[in-house]
This record gives sequence, C-alpha cells and structure tokens, in this order.
Amino acid sequence: CGVFGAFSTAGNPVLEEVYLGLYALQHRGQESAGVAWIDKSDQIRTIKGQGLVHLALNQAELATIDASSAIGHVRYSTAGGSGLANVQPLAANYCRGPVAIAHNGNISNASGVRRYLENRGAIFQSTTDTEVILHLMAHQPHKTELDALVDSLRKLKGAFSLAVALKDRLVAARDPWGFRPLALGKRDDVYYISSESCALDLVGADMIRELEPGEILVIDDEGVRSLRIPVEPRRKYLCSFEFVYFARPDSLISGRSVYEVRKNLGKMLAKGAPCNGDCVTCMPDSGTVAAMGYAEESGIPYEKAIVRNRYSGRTFIEPTQRVRELGVRKKLNPIRELIRGKSLTVVDDSIVRGTTSRRMVELLREYGASEVHMRISSPPVKFPCYYGIDTPTREELAAARANETALCAEIGATSLGYLTGDDLIQAIGLPEWEVCTACFSGNYMEDGERHEELDI
Ligand code: SF4
Ligand code: MG
Repeated sequence: CGVFGAFSTAGNPVLEEVYLGLYALQHRGQESAGVAWIDKSDQIRTIKGQGLVHLALNQAELATIDASSAIGHVRYSTAGGSGLANVQPLAANYCRGPVAIAHNGNISNASGVRRYLENRGAIFQSTTDTEVILHLMAHQPHKTELDALVDSLRKLKGAFSLAVALKDRLVAARDPWGFRPLALGKRDDVYYISSESCALDLVGADMIRELEPGEILVIDDEGVRSLRIPVEPRRKYLCSFEFVYFARPDSLISGRSVYEVRKNLGKMLAKGAPCNGDCVTCMPDSGTVAAMGYAEESGIPYEKAIVRNRYSGRTFIEPTQRVRELGVRKKLNPIRELIRGKSLTVVDDSIVRGTTSRRMVELLREYGASEVHMRISSPPVKFPCYYGIDTPTREELAAARANETALCAEIGATSLGYLTGDDLIQAIGLPEWEVCTACFSGNYMEDGERHEELDI
C-alpha cells in the first residue's frame, strides 16, 4: 500500500495535493484509493472508491473541498479481503475526537489483538489488520487521542507506516523495525508525509528526511514534533523487496536511490549468473533497470524486446489466479523480429508463483527464440511475507515447491539463474542486520516477535 498526508500551517486546502500524492504512489496499490479529512464541525469525512486513483477519486471535486489537513491511501490487499469495508483510510469518531488512519504494512499480531478486543466487546467493521489500531485507542481511557494512538502503537507487532488525521493535527508513524519506508517533505506552508519520495517530487516538495524506525511525527500549526513509540529499541529491519520490486526507481529509501540499487542488482547478477546470449532483455517494467545493469556488466547488448502495454497495471496485484494468468498476455508482447532464432537472456525482478516467467518463456519460444535464459535479480522467494507484501502461502511459491533445476524445467527455460542473498545485501549497500530478507532466507525477525503474543 501507499500512504500520503498533507498539512498546511497557513490553512490552505490540501486535498488536491493528497490526490496527486496518491497518483504518484499508484504502483503501491491499485485495488482501491481513499482520502480522509476532518471538517469544520469536527466530523471525520472520507471519500473512497475501488480501482485506480483516477477512477476511485474525483480530482476536481477534491480541489473544491476546504480542508487544510488530509490523508490518503492506495490499497493493495494483504491482510483482509478487497471489499469496500476494507478500503482505507479507516475512520471513526471516537470519544476523544475524530480519527482516520491510512496504513502501509501488515500488523503481524493483529488477529490476536482482535480476538482479545472482541472478547471484551469490540465490534469490528472490517477484516483489515489496521482496524485494531482504532479499537486499541478506544479500549482504554486516555487524556487525548494522541496519547491513545501512541499507546496503541506500542502494542503492535510487524509493519506499519501510518498517516493519521486527528483534529488539528497530522501524525506520521513508522514501526520500530522500519519495515516500510516513510518520508517527511515540505513546500512553502505545507508539510507532507509520503510512503515514497517520488510523490514528494510530484507535489514539488523537498524531502526533509525519512522517519526513523519507531518515530512518530506530530504536525500542527506550530510545526513538526518528534516522539518515539515507547518500546525498547529494536533492530532495524527495512524490507529488501522495496528495492527489488515494490518501490518506484525514482524514489530514495534509506538514503539510497532505488534505481541505483536495482542497477547494482543486475550487475551482481551478471557476475554471479553469467550467460552468453545474443542480447539481454527485460520483463518490463519490473526487470528493466536490473536488465540494464546486467547488460552493462556482461557487455551483451540490451534490447527492449518485450513491449508492455502502457495502460495495464501490475499483473501480480490481480486478486485471482485466472486474471493473473490472463494478465501476462494482456500486458506483455515480444517483438518477433528481435526474438526469432536468438538466444535471449531475460531479466526479471522475482519469481513468485512462476506464472509470469512460465507464460513469457512459452511466448518467446512460440515467437521463435532458440534459447531463453531466465535471470532473476533477487534470490528465490521461498517464504511468505508477514509484513505487508502479498506473497502467497508456501505451497504456492514456485521456489518453495521446486528446486532450481525443477523450476527451470517447470517454466520451460533453457537455464535459470538467481541472485544470491549476499549479493542482494551488497547491492543494497546497507548492513546485513538492518535489512529484512525473510521471504528469501526464512530469517524472520528476532524470536517470537512475529508471533501473535499479546501484552495489552
Ligand atoms: Fe520485505 Fe520479504 Fe521482509 Fe516481507 S519478508 S518485509 S517482502 S523482505
Ligand atoms: Mg514484473
């Protein structure tokens, strides 16, 4: 998912800015989009819809609304289904005031917390993990809604980068592990919070800085205040998959250019899994930058031999297998003239269920390729993610059910090569202990933290 928020200290309307921010974060979720703000009579207001930002929301309508603080969300369902009740921001008028929350990540102890609260009378309206935050806030008496929010965040495990609208305040928070990115920006009288810096670029804001893991920023008319989620400091655990696939290449995460990291991934892949094809090509768009790195390092010419329909979304995000299967053809078509009789090295960012690679290899062979060497710019995805990326169960993961040789045969490729875990860390350039690689390595964070323990 993607979250965005804007607060004008001069009282200027910001909802159109939030719309633009969401537009730039579209790649982080295409199932639904929504915005929330608090109106002049302290009522929480939301506008939400299914599908892409420009279909779910009406920019012209938002531009006429007088709200100087607002948040927004683009959704890619991980926890909970894709129904309307789960479209964010989630909002409530609770006893201390109105509150709306936009959440990126996945709260790994959500079902335990939910059970606990339901046993004490809470009635949940949705199946999202995010709703536990609202109920935790209401569950115990606090002086202010900000106190309630801080106290609830303390009880959560897993991943959350949040934009929260409270009366006269915009709050941003990042979980103590820092799984998902979140940045603070500013232009003139407006402060912005955004999942990725590319959205700050669109609204013309400068990135002030990224939030620290475990940090809470409170933005109001006085400016920005920094608080901490009151837990003992944790090990940083930034999601490596943001660099591999999820984030846009024009974003900066942890001070690193996603583009440069992706190019490095391709270069390291060329060293570790070399290949002497006629040309290097990519599975657009997710494999493009890595393929350029691969070509540069190997000295083999790069051709854009597979054309992507510019108006199609990300295949993976289609919620059913049937549409996912169709999706590959809907979206990608090779150029016959570049394929016939050629030995191709095809770079993609990841193999999850194996659908994309299998269909593409089949298509390339149909178009006359003599050899198809698949090269993947991440290690095999063998384990599910519990922190906000929609990897399926272990049984559905291609690399979990088959070893490399068997998988190569399954997708019909001439050869299959992956990046190693060490090369992934090296390409990202952050210390190994600050990066989550659990879906590749199975090393989830410290013992027990993933589990649904409860301490309310
Ligand atoms: Fe990212 Fe994988 Fe860790 Fe999930 S398990 S947070 S996708 S690196
Ligand atoms: Mg792809």
